[in-house]
Amino acid sequence: MAVHLHEEDLPADVGFADGPIAVDTEAMGLHPGRDRLCLVQLSDGKGDEHLVRFGQGSNFSAPNLKRLLADPNRLKLYHFARFDVGIMQYYLGIMAAPLYCTRTASRLVRTYTDRHGLKDLVKELLCLEISKQQQTSDWGAAELSEAQREYAASDVRYLHALKDKLDERLEREGRTALAQACFDFLPARALLDIAGWPEQDIFAHDG
Ligand code: MN
Repeated sequence: MAVHLHEEDLPADVGFADGPIAVDTEAMGLHPGRDRLCLVQLSDGKGDEHLVRFGQGSNFSAPNLKRLLADPNRLKLYHFARFDVGIMQYYLGIMAAPLYCTRTASRLVRTYTDRHGLKDLVKELLCLEISKQQQTSDWGAAELSEAQREYAASDVRYLHALKDKLDERLEREGRTALAQACFDFLPARALLDIAGWPEQDIFAHDG
């Protein structure tokens, strides 16, 4: 098990196992137009994580990364996909779907709580403690610290195991099809964010 840091793209020879790939991003903030994309993290669930760092002034060409993320036959796992696919659409120009979102699945089955953070899910469903200490750190730094790299990797480390647990709950509660419909819509929801409807519910009668 190791964390691999790459600059500007994945190497051509990274061999990911078949099946879903866990993806997360780190940026300078939460506004895609203002805040640049700094890092894309990937895991095939077999124990290694790959971090792709983009420097200030990057042209975001990254052909190997884009090929993997845009592959229509490869399911991507996220925690809060709406942000990640939005910022990757904005900077990389690809829609990294089809997707599964552990936060959305959690909201559909863990209706007894409003705690849907990754840390909360990992604790309740996998009985593990993860640190969120580096969440708000400076991802634009020229050198990422050991703590930042470990934090970034841990954000994709548990998504396969969480999907397994959440799929059982979705099945039990009869919400598998509803969850799939939400995942299918998420790319459009992310595009609405970027196109100027970040907060509004366009399905609402008022507002
Ligand atoms: Mn993250």
